[in-house]
Amino acid sequence: MRIFLFLYCILGYYYYCDATKKFPETFKFGVATSAYQIEGAWNEDGKGVSIWDHITHTKPYHIKDNSNGDVACDSYHKYKEDVMLLKDLGVDFYRFSISWTRVLPSGYVNKINWKGVEYYNNLIDELLKNDIKPMVTLYHWDLPQTLQELGGWTNPLLEEYYAEYARLCFKLFGDRVKLWTTFNEPDLVCRMGYGRNLLAPAYNSSGIGDYLCGHTLLKAHAKAYHIYDDDFRKEQKGQIIIVLEFNWFMPKTNTTKDIGAAEAARDFSFGWWAHPIYLGNYPKSMIDLVAKKSAKQGFPKSRLPTFTEKEVEYIKGTSDFLGLNTYTTFLAAHMENTNDTIVSSRHDIGYSTSIEPKWEDTANPLFKMVPWGTRQMLRWIKEHYNSPEIFITENGCADKDALDDQLRIKYYREHLKSILDSMYEDKVNVTGYTAWSLMDNFEWIDGYRTKFGLYHVDFTSPNRTRTPKCSASYIKKLIKTYCPVEECE
Ligand code: BGC
Repeated sequence: MRIFLFLYCILGYYYYCDATKKFPETFKFGVATSAYQIEGAWNEDGKGVSIWDHITHTKPYHIKDNSNGDVACDSYHKYKEDVMLLKDLGVDFYRFSISWTRVLPSGYVNKINWKGVEYYNNLIDELLKNDIKPMVTLYHWDLPQTLQELGGWTNPLLEEYYAEYARLCFKLFGDRVKLWTTFNEPDLVCRMGYGRNLLAPAYNSSGIGDYLCGHTLLKAHAKAYHIYDDDFRKEQKGQIIIVLEFNWFMPKTNTTKDIGAAEAARDFSFGWWAHPIYLGNYPKSMIDLVAKKSAKQGFPKSRLPTFTEKEVEYIKGTSDFLGLNTYTTFLAAHMENTNDTIVSSRHDIGYSTSIEPKWEDTANPLFKMVPWGTRQMLRWIKEHYNSPEIFITENGCADKDALDDQLRIKYYREHLKSILDSMYEDKVNVTGYTAWSLMDNFEWIDGYRTKFGLYHVDFTSPNRTRTPKCSASYIKKLIKTYCPVEECE
C-alpha cells in the first residue's frame, strides 16, 4: 500500500511539471499551526480557560461536529514527534502560537504558570536543536475567558493587558525566538468574532463591536511592537510583525460600480489593518463611509473610533515586514439596497461578496482555487503600500480526507508558481512561504471535518497517529530544490 502510494505521489508530481522558475536560495520555507488547533491538554498543568475552551464547552453546537480542542492533536505531549516531522520536511522555520492562558492562566501577569512556560521552552529548544527557527505568534485567537468577561477586545484596557503578556513572552523566550508575530489575522478576530456570530466569542455586534475590537487591537499591536523595539530588540536582535489576512476581491462585473465595490472591499478587509500600520490611520474610504452612515442613523459621532494624531504616528511603521495569509479570491458587487437604518459594517461600505462557481473547487466550498488572484493581490499590495517585504505566513487548502491529496499539491504548486511570477515579472518582494498546515487539526467552527494537513492525524486513536500525505513529499522536495515543478531543478 505504501509503495503504491509512493509511486502515485511521484507520478502525480511529474504530471504537473510545466515551468522553469525557482525560488532564490535566500527564500525561506516553513509550515504553521496554532496552539488551540493542535495542543490539546486544555486544562493540564495549570492552564486557564480561553474563549475557545469556553465556547466549545458551553455551546458545543456552535461547532459543526460538536467537537472541541480538548485533546486536538495532543501536541502538548507529542511536540518532540512533531519536531521530527518538521525536520523531515526540512523547513527553515516553524510558525506556532503561544496559548496566553497556558502561560498566564487568568490573563494577567501577576500569576505565571511555570509549567506552561516550561512547555514552550522545551518546544523552542527542541526546534533549535534541530536547526529550525521558531516563528512565534502571540495571539492566534485564544483570548483568556477572564478578559472576555470584561468585554474582550472591545475594552480598551486590553491594550495594556496584552502588552504586559507580550513583554513577558519577550523576556521569557526572546533570547531564542527571533521572529515574533503580534496577532494572527485581526480581520477575522474582529469581523468574525465581534462583528458576527462565527468565531469565538461570537459577539455579533456588526458596525460597533467589530470597530471597537479593531481599534483596541491595533493599539495593542503597536504597543507590543514598541516594547520590543525599545526594550528588547537591541539585545535580542529579532524582528516583529503582524500577520494580516487578505483574500483578493475581483469585481463581479466590469461596471464602474462593481470595480469600485472591489476596491472598497480591499480597503475594508486588508486596508482596515494595513493602512494604519503602513500608511497611517484607517483608509479614507472607511472613515468617510462609516461617518456618513453613522450620522444618518442619528449617532452623535462615527461608530468607527478615531485615532489621535499621536496614535496615528505611534501605530505607523510597526511591522518589520508584512506577514500575509492568503487562501482564495471572492467577487465583490455594489450593494444597491444598502439600508440606512441597519447598523452593520457591510452596509456601511455597501458591497456584497460572492463566489464564482466556475472557479476550481477545493474541499471547502467557500474557498475556490484562484492562484492568479494571489498574483493580482501581491501586485496590488506592492502598488498601494510602497513595495513592502512580504512573507507569506499561511497558504493552503482543504482537501478530502485521504493520503493521496493531489488537489492540495496542485493548490500549492499553482500558488507557488503565481508567487514566482509576482517576484520575477511584477518585482514584488516576497521572501518567505508558509504552508498551512503541518497536520490536520481543529478547524475552528468546522471542527475536525475540514483537513488542511500535510500530515494526516488519526483522531480516533488515543495516540493521534500522524501519517505523511503526498503533499508532505511535495513540500519536502520543494524545500530541497526551491522549485515548485520538476523543470526548474
Ligand atoms: C487561520 C487558521 C485556519 C486557516 C484555515 C486561517 O485564516 O489563521 O487558523 O485554520 O485559516 O481556515
